[in-house]
Amino acid sequence: MQEVILLKYGELILKGLNRPQFEHKLLKRIRNTLRSCGTFTVTQAQSTVYVEPQDADAPIDDAIRRLQKVFGIVSLVRACVVEKDMDAIEAAVVPYLRDEIEQAKTFRVNAKRADKRFPLPSPEIARRVAERVGDAFPDLQADMHAPELTITVEIRDTAAYIHANSLPGAGGMPSGSCGRAAVLISGGIDSPVAAYMMARRGMSVCAVHFASPPYTSPRAKAKVLDLLKIVSAYSGPIACFVVPFTALQEQLRAHCKEEFFTILLRRFMMRAAARIAEGQDCAALITGESIGQVASQTIEAITCTQEASPLPVLRPLIGMDKEEIIRIARRIDTFETSILPYEDCCTVFTPRHPRTRPRLWDVEQEEAKFNFTPLLDAAVEAAEKIVVCPE
Ligand code: ATP
Ligand code: MG
Repeated sequence: MQEVILLKYGELILKGLNRPQFEHKLLKRIRNTLRSCGTFTVTQAQSTVYVEPQDADAPIDDAIRRLQKVFGIVSLVRACVVEKDMDAIEAAVVPYLRDEIEQAKTFRVNAKRADKRFPLPSPEIARRVAERVGDAFPDLQADMHAPELTITVEIRDTAAYIHANSLPGAGGMPSGSCGRAAVLISGGIDSPVAAYMMARRGMSVCAVHFASPPYTSPRAKAKVLDLLKIVSAYSGPIACFVVPFTALQEQLRAHCKEEFFTILLRRFMMRAAARIAEGQDCAALITGESIGQVASQTIEAITCTQEASPLPVLRPLIGMDKEEIIRIARRIDTFETSILPYEDCCTVFTPRHPRTRPRLWDVEQEEAKFNFTPLLDAAVEAAEKIVVCPE
C-alpha cells in the first residue's frame, strides 16, 4: 500500500504575502528537514504539500515528527493513496485504518471532492464509506458533531487519499519569509523562547552569545549551543557567534559605579550584537526581555538599553508572565536544558543594588568614564562562529 504525508497550509496565512515566495520557502525548508531522514519527493498543489517516500522502509513516523516542527504548516496527516475508483476506495478504508477504528468509539466520514469530474458527489462517497466501516464494526457509533475519529476521503487530481484525524502543525510562517534577525541568547529560559517565537513568525535567525571566561565556564557555552540545537529543529540551522566579554567587563568594573554595571553591560551587548547582526544581513535584534521581570527590565532600564542599539530590538515576551513563558519552553522542549545550573556573564560582577530606574543621562555619564570602543571592537573581532544544526 502506497502512503504519503499530506501537509496543509491555511489560506489565511497567505494574506498579504506573496504566494509563490511563501511556497518556495516552505518547500525548501521541508526538503532540508527531510534530507537527513530518508529519501522523499516533495511536491505541492492546491494548498497541500505531498511528501512521498521513495523506498518501502522510509521512516514515515520520524519524518512526521520532524515536519511537525516546520513553520508554515497548519496540519499534517499520513494518508494512503488509492486509485480514483469507488470500489477501490471502499475496499481500502478498513484495512488501512483498522488500528484507529478499533481505538475509537465514535466516528464520522468526511469526503472532499476537489476533482469535480469524479462521478459521485461528496455526501454519497461519505455515506458509502461509512456504511462499509459500520458493517465491519457494528459497535462503532456515528457522531456527526464531535467524533473521536474522523475518516477523510479526499478525491484529488491524480488519486484518492484516505486518512484518519490530522495532527497539528507548528503554524506560523516558513523560515526566512519575514526577514532575518539576531537573537541575544543566554542559557536562561526566556531567550530560547524569544528566538522560537520570532522564527515562528517567519524570521530566519542567527544568534549572539556573550561569554566571560574564566568567570563563565565552557559548560555554560555548551548549554547555549544545546538550546540552539533544540530551536534549530524549528528554525533550521543557526549560526551562533560567541563573543568574549571578559576584558570589557573587567574595565567596566574598574571604572564605573557598581549600581550601573548591569545596564552598562546590556548596552555593550546591544552594540556588539548589532555589529554582528549587520554583518549577517539582519534587520533587528531579538531579546528575551519581559517587562518588570528583573531590575534590568523596568521600562526605564529597557529604554536605556534600546538607546544603545542602532537596530530595532524585538522583544516577543515583553508582556508575558513567567508562567506563560515556561509553558512554551516546556512545549518546545528547551525548559529542561534551560534550568540546568550555569553562570551567565550577567551574573559576573552583579551589583548588590542595581539601579532599577536609571536615567539615560546618568548612564551616559557613567559610560563616558572609560574608552570602551577598542574593547568592543576587539570583542566583536574575536567572536567565534559555530553553526548549530538540528539533531
Ligand atoms: P534569559 O532567561 O533569556 O536569560 P533573563 O530573564 O535571565 O533572560 P536577563 O538575564 O536580564 O533576563 O537577560 C535579558 C536578555 O538579555 C536575555 O533574554 C537575552 O536576550 C539577553 N542576554 C542575557 N545574557 C546574555 C548573554 N550572556 N549573551 C547574550 N544575550 C544575553
Ligand atoms: Mg539570563
